[in-house]
Amino acid sequence: MSVTVRVPAKVNVQLAVGGARPDGFHDLANVFLAVGLYDEITVTPADALRVTCSGPDAAQVPLDVTNLAARAALALAGRHGIEPAVHIHIAKDIPVAGGMAGGSADGAGALVACDALWGTRTSREELLEICAELGSDVPFSLVGGAALGTGRGEKLTVLEVGGTFHWVFAMADGGLSTPAVFREFDRLGEGARTPEPVASWDLLEALAKGDTGALAAAVSNDLEPAALSLFPELAQTLAAGRAAGALTALVSGSGPTTAFLARDASGAERIAEALRASGTCKSARVAPSPAPGATVVHPGHRDAAGARD
Ligand code: ATP
Repeated sequence: MSVTVRVPAKVNVQLAVGGARPDGFHDLANVFLAVGLYDEITVTPADALRVTCSGPDAAQVPLDVTNLAARAALALAGRHGIEPAVHIHIAKDIPVAGGMAGGSADGAGALVACDALWGTRTSREELLEICAELGSDVPFSLVGGAALGTGRGEKLTVLEVGGTFHWVFAMADGGLSTPAVFREFDRLGEGARTPEPVASWDLLEALAKGDTGALAAAVSNDLEPAALSLFPELAQTLAAGRAAGALTALVSGSGPTTAFLARDASGAERIAEALRASGTCKSARVAPSPAPGATVVHPGHRDAAGARD
């Protein structure tokens, strides 16, 4: 018996960052959009907790208890007083340390998978509580779709999305550490200008209407100058995507993945091809949005009659 859960990556279509708080965190107005690039987490009963990982970036993923998937299993088992005797396999397609919340996705996926495997029937509220303890981006990985995150980003309000947006993501050669990007943000004094980050009304309206042009005009990422300061080559990738017809180009979250919004699916394919040919990135992938949050894909949902699909 095993359970597999599919979890999406995210792009921040708005990331408004306030100054550093006394606890070191920053207040954020963070508009998350889940995109169709997925990790798959499979959990199987085992003698003891064990994590394995496959995929092109697998060598960069920690397999000890610092892995967010392992931490999620431990947190859930702790709450229910059971042994976390489980093998967690991560089939990784989301770039590691790419600013697309891959680790957070694995945390949310392992939580949902273990809850199904162990039959612990944890309420949605409690799952979200555990997610928030694991990290600021983890609750959104559970929920998917689009959401506004406030506080550290972990207090979520679900947002309406009225259409499909077509994205291209360019993976960089190398990673950026999120804390390092926030430190650079502080060093550049960027937060001093935005004491109270607020969500952009134009952006929320563009999402609700499914209006690609309006979304392109409204996206913003306050961390972009800090990411570009630490990884200046990203400017060339952004320029290559714009030259290939992207309606907008931005650093995804803390980077170094860059995101490009295309008018439609075929435009996205053309931009991806041009980015690959430009030699300014390691790879480029297309992904539609919004995408659903953590979803059990095996053994499949039971219908009313109890059959499996
Ligand atoms: P975010 O967008 O949330 O800031 P990210 O996408 O930039 O995150 P991740 O891929 O989540 O970055 O990984 C950041 C670091 O977290 C990695 O360098 C790795 O050491 C650690 N990590 C812990 N668990 C995982 C996991 N399951 N997958 C990938 N990295 C993990």
